[in-house]
Amino acid sequence: MATHHCTLRQLTFLKSKVEQQCCLDSEEALAKGSWVKLICGASNEDLPAISDLCALYATAGVHCIDVAADAAVVYAARKGLDWCEEFQGSRPWLMISLSDGKDEHFRKAWFDHNLCPPDCPKPCQKSCPASAITNRKGINTKRCYGCGRCLPSCPLGLIQAQDKHLELEEIAPLIAELQPDAVEIHTAPGRKKEFQKTIKEIISSNVQLKRVAVSCGLEGHQISPTELAQELWERFSYLRKHELRPLWQLDGRRMSGDLGIGTAKVAVNLWQKILAVAPPGPLQLAGGTNAQTIQLLPNENGPAGIAFGGIARKLIEPWLLKAEANERNLRDWPEGWQPALQEAKQLINPWLLKNSRPKVC
Ligand code: SF4
Ligand code: SF4
Repeated sequence: MATHHCTLRQLTFLKSKVEQQCCLDSEEALAKGSWVKLICGASNEDLPAISDLCALYATAGVHCIDVAADAAVVYAARKGLDWCEEFQGSRPWLMISLSDGKDEHFRKAWFDHNLCPPDCPKPCQKSCPASAITNRKGINTKRCYGCGRCLPSCPLGLIQAQDKHLELEEIAPLIAELQPDAVEIHTAPGRKKEFQKTIKEIISSNVQLKRVAVSCGLEGHQISPTELAQELWERFSYLRKHELRPLWQLDGRRMSGDLGIGTAKVAVNLWQKILAVAPPGPLQLAGGTNAQTIQLLPNENGPAGIAFGGIARKLIEPWLLKAEANERNLRDWPEGWQPALQEAKQLINPWLLKNSRPKVC
């Protein structure tokens, strides 16, 4: 296979181009189709890892970081973003994720480890992409982000999912306390009223939000892309009535682990199906997105951006685990930080370098 070697001049040019794109503010990036968001996980409460993930991907140049709506998580995320700002003078938006009903993103797995037979080969551990199942204490609930892969893995059926989404009355005080730049609402077809009630709570927090992201997909629902678009139009009318600016997060394959070309195709297919009938506002891909997604998209008139979740966390996990084993932060450990940062940049740079305008619906 032929190997392509860049000259020093080409590398310097690419580096300066990436630095220019990193400096684009979030709205510019959405308009240019080069917006990148890191999803830390709506149920991820692994605080040291969250600080490091935020510091790392903010340094790499993402425009937004999406975390759980939890005071301790937001504090940990801000610690990482403050560190980045001190280092490079800018910081991405901080978005918090809510749900207007039951949603797989807002759950935790649980089992009573006292019931496990001592000779069990622990298939549950192998199934967990977040290394959240420990040898002796069952599930580390702070690390579990609710993907559900472990649920069918136990031959005794010991593992259950526990719903963790916020009650309506908890939303306004929490947003007022956390003061995020943006909020994301995970919604589903048929939940128009619940969505509107959630928006009312957000408004009553009196926090000026730069965008309200609306995350929705087709998977698990017996509806057509046109019917999904109709659901989004209803939400658009309500957001516009309250002068809130939407950002449509098209959730291709939820909680997929985002590992292969198959999941990448699901996310791109959803965007293609909805593009012509979607309401106004930027369309951003999520759910199944990975390094291969960009190859499936046209050079011109692509989506406004992308969110990376499972894949972004998985790439960095070996360094996070080593840093944890050495009882230090990744950001204070240059030997781990540098290769981890390279991995993060390799994932997001192709997006930061995109300069085709997204198709305006
Ligand atoms: S497999 Fe998924 S749901 Fe189960 S413990 Fe790991 S992160 Fe949690
Ligand atoms: S597979 Fe089931 S029985 Fe075995 S360790 Fe995991 S939870 Fe326990």
